[in-house]
Amino acid sequence: MFEGLSKRLGDVFDKLRGRGALSEADVDAALREVRTALLEADVALPVVRQFIDGVRPKAIGADVIRSVTPGQMVVKIVNDHLVEMLGGTVADLDLNAIPPVVILMVGLQGSGKTTSSAKIGYRLSQGPQGMAAEFGGSFSVKRKVMMASLDTRRPAAQQQLKILGEQTGVPTLPIVPLEMPLAITRRALETARREGFDVLILDTAGRLSIDEELMKEVADISALSKPQETLLVADAMTGQDAVNVAKAFNDRLTVTGIVLTRVDGDARGGAALSMRAVTGRPVKLIGVGEKFDALEPFHPDRIASRILGMGDIVSLVERAAETIEKEDAEKLAAKVRKGQFDMDDLLSQLRQLRKMGGLSGLMGMLPGAMQAKAAMSKAKIDEGQLKRQEAVILAMTPKERRNPDIIHASRKKRIAKGSGVQVQDVNKLLKQHADMLKMMKRVNKLGEKGFMRSLGGMT
Ligand code: GDP
Ligand code: MG
Repeated sequence: MFEGLSKRLGDVFDKLRGRGALSEADVDAALREVRTALLEADVALPVVRQFIDGVRPKAIGADVIRSVTPGQMVVKIVNDHLVEMLGGTVADLDLNAIPPVVILMVGLQGSGKTTSSAKIGYRLSQGPQGMAAEFGGSFSVKRKVMMASLDTRRPAAQQQLKILGEQTGVPTLPIVPLEMPLAITRRALETARREGFDVLILDTAGRLSIDEELMKEVADISALSKPQETLLVADAMTGQDAVNVAKAFNDRLTVTGIVLTRVDGDARGGAALSMRAVTGRPVKLIGVGEKFDALEPFHPDRIASRILGMGDIVSLVERAAETIEKEDAEKLAAKVRKGQFDMDDLLSQLRQLRKMGGLSGLMGMLPGAMQAKAAMSKAKIDEGQLKRQEAVILAMTPKERRNPDIIHASRKKRIAKGSGVQVQDVNKLLKQHADMLKMMKRVNKLGEKGFMRSLGGMT
């Protein structure tokens, strides 16, 4: 499938020549292939539509980075949008509540609720010790965890959790034969409170498909136990049905997070996107095996490249962008070396800065610039100011930009008028440029190598 999308996109774009901005036709051609890839990854159809509608305006008109093809560029934009829709970054469990903090596990039968309960219980009770380095946040504190099975429907379901508890060293609520789910919940809460447990994990019964009886049962359990986290457990293989499952649970309960299981299999994980889109809640954890330590935090970027099957292209485009940034930085450094940092360079720096979000970003790259940095950030250079500075430079003639020394009173007046600012704003910018030049020369004397390293130091 990987070669599939890759090759199809290649075919689409082999016919397209030239660089520059992505045209509507480029984008639509690529998005048709992306659509197929998403469906192949089992993303639910309405979510695919929503996704394509969301990414299309982002892609049209976007610049194609030098040395990548338009197709590769679309893939990168699609990938970034996907990562964003998947939540962007790792989402932590929220266990900030008065103990015992309740985690309610819900989902269809066989989705992996009981296994995931034990995995989470195990992780939380381990604390930072022996923990996979990836876990942080709420997993970095050792907690006293108890688990209770409320599954009175499947024979031996409570037994299953008890055995997992013994294997993981996580205590389970003693089983009382014939007790009903709500009564077990009450007893679990009392026991956890009395015995000073930090976290109580409630493992519920599932069904092969959504039904009212099941929904009412979990809703009642939820109302009684007031969970801080309600984790919807879903198999990564869940295909088009993911939307219905997520909707059904989310309508009756406040789902706070999703646990995606069997990510170790060959499902491409489209369910992650479907569930996230329907509930608006992040995937918090993934199950990657049957063993109780096969639990990982969810990394949106990893699942995105799995869904698209285009990880290689994404890193290729990222590398290309980095290379260009590095080349630009080196060019700039060379100019500084020759004392040639002119207004055109300042202009392109200002534009970069707007992308990077502030002058302190650039200053931070320069050694020995701490003073200037402090002064600049005190001046709180905002987006609007950067735009005004750009306008000032744009109002200069090419000759003035190359040689700002010639800008005297009458030229200043003309530039101020041309850019809609006060003469003092023009003065400020000229002074800023002069200061930068001075500073760069000083740095230059300190040693070219150190400067180059710091300027191009993104490798
Ligand atoms: P429940 O009915 O929702 O409680 O589901 P279970 O926790 O009993 O899991 C059903 C089956 O899926 C068991 O055989 C588990 O070992 C298996 N399982 C659960 N999570 C994972 C996972 O992340 N990877 C794999 N390979 N198997 C899993
Ligand atoms: Mg179970």
